[in-house]
Amino acid sequence: MQVIKPGDTRGTLYIVATPIGNLEDISARAVSVLSEVAVIAAEDTRHSGRLLQHLGLNKPLIALHDHNERGRVQGILGQLLAGADVALISDAGTPLISDPGYVLVREARAEGLRVSPIPGPCALIAALSAAGLPTDRFLFVGFLPAKRSGRRTALEEIRKENATLVFYESPHRILDTVADIVEIMGGHREIVLGREITKAFETFYSGEATQVLATLTEDPHGSRGEFVVMVRGAEKTESSLMAGALDVDRLLSLLMEELPLKKAAKIASSLTGLGKNELYQRALDLKDS
Ligand code: SAM
Repeated sequence: MQVIKPGDTRGTLYIVATPIGNLEDISARAVSVLSEVAVIAAEDTRHSGRLLQHLGLNKPLIALHDHNERGRVQGILGQLLAGADVALISDAGTPLISDPGYVLVREARAEGLRVSPIPGPCALIAALSAAGLPTDRFLFVGFLPAKRSGRRTALEEIRKENATLVFYESPHRILDTVADIVEIMGGHREIVLGREITKAFETFYSGEATQVLATLTEDPHGSRGEFVVMVRGAEKTESSLMAGALDVDRLLSLLMEELPLKKAAKIASSLTGLGKNELYQRALDLKDS
């Protein structure tokens, strides 16, 4: 049990959110904390150096990225224990959200040091706030696996999740990921893509997954820039609840033993209320596996 309040003579570790594109999104408090700390730990010192220059700040920077975080933590803890305040920033948005910092925060807390968030931009929250999808429950998945098989397995695992799903995706995988969503979650599933949020070419694509895939494929700039992918959760209808109890895969497997795939999917659809196409796709997957 631990309670840490202001007033500690040792240093504070500030977790400072920085812009995700538009530099005006930095908060006044973030600027004042960055100007007051002794040192700033940054994911990419060159990138953050430009932000600090824009803010007119000249501070010592320490590189803290995924590949050196464990090695750097002791040095930063040493500074905090000696009474220096330290800020952690990442290349964009909120540190630790698909960004480095977890080891540092965990260790600082284990030392009983004060860790204080300076909230601000975060791509997933910005995207969700403007998407028009339910926000009462959402599941942030971060980046899906880069390889197709891993990505498809990850999507399979959350196919029936009722909460809104949120992913980060890189521009060179966006088309493949949306195509996998179409196949695994069904072409009718509502999705919203937030692209280049807060930047000059900010674009939101929304609609049924197949429509969004077609629009993105046709748009010559469609797969450029940074993306947040949001998928409406699976409907929690009476039939899908019943389907949950029924074990759809088992039902399909039994029907497939006696019937052609299409017929098996059709009967499973009338029994469960789930979509015929979705069940046909599932039957194909079961057959392949
Ligand atoms: N820590 C950051 C945050 O708070 O959002 C996220 C860092 S993560 C390494 C970078 C990913 O966030 C990008 O690949 C993209 O999926 C998403 N992202 C960051 N900035 C974005 C923006 N302006 N528009 C859309 N997506 C963005």
